[in-house]
Amino acid sequence: MATFIVLLGPPGVGKGTQAKILSEKTKLAHVSSGDLFRENLKKQTELGKLAKSFMDKGELVPDDVTISMIRDRITRPDCEAGAILDGFPRTPAQADALEKMLTEFKSEVSKVPYITAAEEILVERTSGRWTCPQGHTYHAKFNPPKQAGVCDVDASELYQRDDDQVETVTKRIRVYLEQTMPLVEHYRKAGKLVEVHGDQPVEQVTKDLLAALDM
Ligand code: ADP
Ligand code: ADP
Repeated sequence: MATFIVLLGPPGVGKGTQAKILSEKTKLAHVSSGDLFRENLKKQTELGKLAKSFMDKGELVPDDVTISMIRDRITRPDCEAGAILDGFPRTPAQADALEKMLTEFKSEVSKVPYITAAEEILVERTSGRWTCPQGHTYHAKFNPPKQAGVCDVDASELYQRDDDQVETVTKRIRVYLEQTMPLVEHYRKAGKLVEVHGDQPVEQVTKDLLAALDM
């Protein structure tokens, strides 16, 4: 059976950073809903334009378009063995839709690492975040690129996300608490939740994740 891992946690806790590392170590595909929206935004697709209006306000993109975007993504061949889902699901309706999709593929969510950190850490991390158009992320203080403003991996120019301004981050944290937190209880009840402290160096968080996932 394919292995689908759902990374849960608030904005800026380190999901993307860890998903990239886990994807390299496990060879499972990294599927990030935020990266997919940003790719659509860059290509100026209808989906990108629609998503932008919600992302700029720090709100969630509607479930129907988000679900169909993820369905398209996880039916691609590189997800045959499974994937690390980063940023999806984020609402109970998305979690239900994911369950149905995976049942169709004769699979299910394997485990759900829930990465936690205090709000001031999330603000500090997002306000120093530098993002590459291909989805690699850096931090001005905690994880600086070798050359300021340039991605180590592909030499792309780094940028600061519009929605990483403090006011929007505060809104995103509120939206997370209201709409995504119910998933923590949902996956806990299902016996799939494993808690990991995000307030540690990147390497230690990775070690804890691998241990929690038995990988
Ligand atoms: P972060 O990793 O900091 O939490 P993301 O890149 O995952 O941020 O998400 C950025 C924005 O993209 C969100 O604020 C939201 O507008 C949109 N988004 C991402 N994933 C989803 C999702 N599963 N459902 C709805 N909106 C989403
Ligand atoms: P998320 O996908 O959950 O929004 P990211 O992985 O993009 O989070 O991380 C947010 C910011 O924090 C980035 O600038 C990243 O470089 C930095 N970061 C990630 N993990 C850690 C960590 N363990 N310690 C310090 N900074 C981190």
